[in-house]
Amino acid sequence: MKVFVYPGSFDPVTNGHIDIIQRAAVICDKLIVAVLVNQSKNALFSLEERVELLRKSLQGCANIEVCSFSGLLVNFARDKGASVIIKGLRAVSDYEYELQMALLNKKLDEKIETLFMMANLHYSYLSSSIVKDIALLGGDIDGLVPNAIKSDIIEKINGIAQK
Ligand code: ADP
Repeated sequence: MKVFVYPGSFDPVTNGHIDIIQRAAVICDKLIVAVLVNQSKNALFSLEERVELLRKSLQGCANIEVCSFSGLLVNFARDKGASVIIKGLRAVSDYEYELQMALLNKKLDEKIETLFMMANLHYSYLSSSIVKDIALLGGDIDGLVPNAIKSDIIEKINGIAQK
C-alpha cells in the first residue's frame, strides 16, 4: 500500500493546501495530512483547531487521514508506513528551503522520497498568512479557504480583534 505524508502548519488550511491534498490523494492509497506540533511560527489556531479545520474541510474523502505530529518528520513517516513526503511549491522563493529540507530528510532516511507538486496557478499567491491578514483587515476570504470553515476563521479573527 502506497502511503504519502503531507506535512504543514495549516494555520489555517487554505484552498491551495486542499488542491495539493486532492491531487496527492489520487496518486496514493492513503494520504496522511500531518499537522506540525513544534513550530517556530506563532500559530493563530491551536493544534486541535488546525486538525479540526482540516477534518471539516476534508469530510467525505475516504483515503485521507488528518493527524498531528511532533519530532522528526521522517520518524513520523516511517512509523506510519509512509514512503513519500508531499510538498507543494508555489514560487521560486519556496525552492531553497524545500530543497534543504528534502536533502536533509533524504540524509536522515534514504528510503523516504520527497515529491514536489507545483501549486495550482489559481492558488500560487495563497498562503495561510495572507488569509489571516485579509481576514484581520476585514477583507473577503471567499474562494481562499474551504467554504465549510470560512465562518470559523472569521469568528476566530473577530475574537482576536476584540481583545
Ligand atoms: P503556509 O506556507 O501557507 O504557512 P504550510 O506551512 O502549512 O503553509 O505549508 C504546508 C505545505 O503546503 C508546504 O509544502 C507548502 O509549500 C504548501 N503550500 C502552502 N500554500 C500552498 C498553495 N497555495 N499551493 C500549493 N502548496 C501550498
